[in-house]
Amino acid sequence: MEDHGFDGTTRREALLLGAGALAATQFATQNAFALTGDMAGLPWANNAMRWAQVAFTEEDPPRYDPQFWFDLFKRTHVEAVCLSAGGCICFYPSKVPLHYRARDLGNRDMLGEMIKGCRAQGISIIARVDPHAMSEEAFAAHPEWAACTEDGKPRRHWAAADMYVTCQNGGFMFDFMPAVLKEITDNYQPEGFFGNRWAGSGMCYCQTCRTKFRATTGLELPMTNDPQDPRRKAYIQWNADMRWKQFTLWNDTVKASKADCFFSPNGGLNDPEKVMHPLVAVDRQGRAGTTPVWMMGKYAKQVRAYMQNLPICGLFNVGVEDENRWKDSVQVGPELEAWAHSGIAQGFRPWYCKFNARIFDARWVAPVEKIFQWHYKHDKYMRNTANLARVAMVNSTQSGIFTAGGTAFTAGDGVRAAQRVTDSVNGYYQALVEARIPFEMADDRQLEPRHIARYRVLVLADVAAMSDKQCQQIRDYVKAGGRIVATGETSLYDEIGRRRANFGLSDLFGCDYVKTESGVKNSYLTPRHPHPLTRGLEDAPRIIAATQQLTVKPHDAAKPPLTLVPSYPDLPMERVFAAQEETDIPMAYCRDFGKGRVVYFPMDLDRTFWDVLAPDHLVLLANAVAWAADETPPLLVTGPGILDIAYWRQKGSLTAHLVNMNNPMMMKGPYREIMPAGPYTVSLAIPAGAKIAAVKLLESGATPKTSRDGDRLVVEVPRIALHEIVAVDLA
Ligand SMILES: [Zn+2]
Repeated sequence: MEDHGFDGTTRREALLLGAGALAATQFATQNAFALTGDMAGLPWANNAMRWAQVAFTEEDPPRYDPQFWFDLFKRTHVEAVCLSAGGCICFYPSKVPLHYRARDLGNRDMLGEMIKGCRAQGISIIARVDPHAMSEEAFAAHPEWAACTEDGKPRRHWAAADMYVTCQNGGFMFDFMPAVLKEITDNYQPEGFFGNRWAGSGMCYCQTCRTKFRATTGLELPMTNDPQDPRRKAYIQWNADMRWKQFTLWNDTVKASKADCFFSPNGGLNDPEKVMHPLVAVDRQGRAGTTPVWMMGKYAKQVRAYMQNLPICGLFNVGVEDENRWKDSVQVGPELEAWAHSGIAQGFRPWYCKFNARIFDARWVAPVEKIFQWHYKHDKYMRNTANLARVAMVNSTQSGIFTAGGTAFTAGDGVRAAQRVTDSVNGYYQALVEARIPFEMADDRQLEPRHIARYRVLVLADVAAMSDKQCQQIRDYVKAGGRIVATGETSLYDEIGRRRANFGLSDLFGCDYVKTESGVKNSYLTPRHPHPLTRGLEDAPRIIAATQQLTVKPHDAAKPPLTLVPSYPDLPMERVFAAQEETDIPMAYCRDFGKGRVVYFPMDLDRTFWDVLAPDHLVLLANAVAWAADETPPLLVTGPGILDIAYWRQKGSLTAHLVNMNNPMMMKGPYREIMPAGPYTVSLAIPAGAKIAAVKLLESGATPKTSRDGDRLVVEVPRIALHEIVAVDLA
C-alpha cells in the first residue's frame, strides 16, 4: 500500500511524527535520527517505558487480590498495564448479546476494579481481547461463526471442550467483535487495545470463507501449503487483505468512541506501510527448546526495523514457555533476567505477563522487581533515539513465505519466517554476535536510501526472494558506496518465489547461476592466502564446506580467496580421499562494484554454521563483513567469551550495552545462575563535536577507568554480571 500524504510522507510516517509539521521536516532531513531526544508530540505510548499484563482466569474474580497487583505495579514502576477485557470470555458485565461472562464473575466488574486501581496510580490501560473461541451458546445462535475443518465440520476448541474455534472471516470477527470493542471503549476509555489470537487459528474451510475467497479470486480454497500452488499464493494475499480489513474495522471502531484509542494486534501487522498502531507488543514469552539467549534481542531488531522509533515492547511471561504449556509454572529468576535483558539491550521496552491473577508461586516476583527497578532507575538511558550500528542484516519476510520449501506460514506472523530462511539468518546472527560486530536489522520492504544509507554494510543471508525493484535498490546502494555480503540463493527468486534464470544481483556477485545442490557431504574449502577473507586460517590447509552449494560461472578470472574441494566418498574408510586435492572453483567472490564492495558466497555458509557452529566458518563470516566494511566499528569490545552488544544514542548520552552470554545455558534455557565474566575493554567512537561530561557503569554502579584514543573513548569494565551498560553523559 502506497498511501502518500501531500509531503510525500506515508501514513505510517505521519503516525511516527504526530501532527507536527516541524517534526515532519526533521524526519525528511535526518530520517532515522529524526526523533533525537524529543518524544513530545508522539503517541502517548512512546512515553510509557515499562509495561505489565495480567491475563485473568474465570475463577479469578472472587479469589484474586487486586491490591497485590496495584502494589506490584507501583514497585515495578510500570506505566501501562494490559488487562483481560473480553472476546471469548469477558470480565465485566457486558450487555453485548452472546458475550460470555467469566464463570465466577457474578455481578462483579473485575476489569473495572483493576482499571480504577491502575488509574489511581496514573497507569495507562490496554484492554486485551481474545476472539479465537466462542461459547456453545454463541455457536447455537450463530453456527456460521465457527471455523470449519476441510470437510466443512465446525471445529471444537482443541483445549476447551465446551467451546468452538471462531472463523477469522465471518460474523464473529466482523459483527460481534466490533460491538464488544465499542462497548469496552465506551465504558472504560482505555488508551488502547491488544488483540491476542486475533487473526484466526489457521485455515478455515467454512461456507463464509469459501464464498468470500471465490468471490475475490475466482478460486477454491487451497488444500496444500505449497506457496507455489496458485490457490495458496492467492490465499496468502487474500488473507493479508482480510486481516487488513479486520484491523481497519476494529481500529476505526475504537477510534469512533475515543479518538486517540487504537487497536494493536499481537506482534503487529508486520507491514511497514500498515503500521497504523502506535505500539507493538512482541509476544515472545520465553525460551523453549534450543534457543540462544540472544533470540529476544533478534526479535527486537526485526520489529524495530519497520517500527523504527515507535515503541516496541518485549512481552515475556513469568511462567515456563514450553509446548507442553505449563501455564501455571514460574520461570527461575536468572532465566527471566537473561531473556528480558537480551531484549532490553536491543531496544525492547520490558513487558511482563502473568497468566492468572492469583499468586500461588511467588518466586517470579523478586526477579521481575529487580529487572524493572533497575530499568526505572536508569530510565533516561533507556530512551534510545538512534542506534549507531553500521552493519545491518536484511530481514526478508517474503523469502520465508515463498522460498522456504512450502512451509506453512500465516501472513501477519512474519516475525517467524520459515525454517530454512530462519536458519541462515540465525547462523549469520550468531556469527555477528560472536564477532562482536554491532548490527541492526533492515526490513527488505524499506530499502530506500533514507532507510539504509546509514549502514555501511548490509548482510543478505540467503535473501532468496527479491523483486526487480529490490535488486535495483541494492544495486544503487552499492554503486553509491554501500557494501553487501550475500550468501546462497540470494536474489535467485522474485518477490513471490518464481525462480529467475539468473541471480537478480549477478552483476554484483560477479557470477551467473547454474544450479543448486543440497545435502552435500564431505566437501571442503581451500583457503588461499594472503587475503583479508581468509585471515586467521593460515594454518588450515582445508576447512569444511557448506552443505548447500551453488554451481556458478564466474564473469572473470580473478583469483578467488576460497576454492572448492568437491564432495568425495565418506565410506568405506579406504575410499575416503579426495579425487582432486585442490581446484580453482571459486567459493567466495570479493570485489569492488561502483563505489562499494561485494562479498558473495555461492553456498549456505551461514545455515551450515547454524548447524555445526564451526569456528572456521565464524572466521569467514566475520572477515567478510570486516573486509566489506573497511572501517573500525563504532563499538569495540575485547575480553573473554560471548557478549551481545549494542551502541545507542539518547538525547543527552551514549550507551554501550554489553550482555554477558557466557553461561552453559546460553543455547538452551533456563539459566541456573548468572555467571560473571571479565575483564573487558570497551572502545567507543565519540561523535564529532560531542563533549563527555561523565562516564558510569549502570550495572555495577562504579565509575570506570577511562582514557582517550583519538576520537574514541576507552573504558575498562572489570566484570559483567549479566548486562552492563557503559553510559556516557554528554555535556
Ligand atoms: Zn471461515
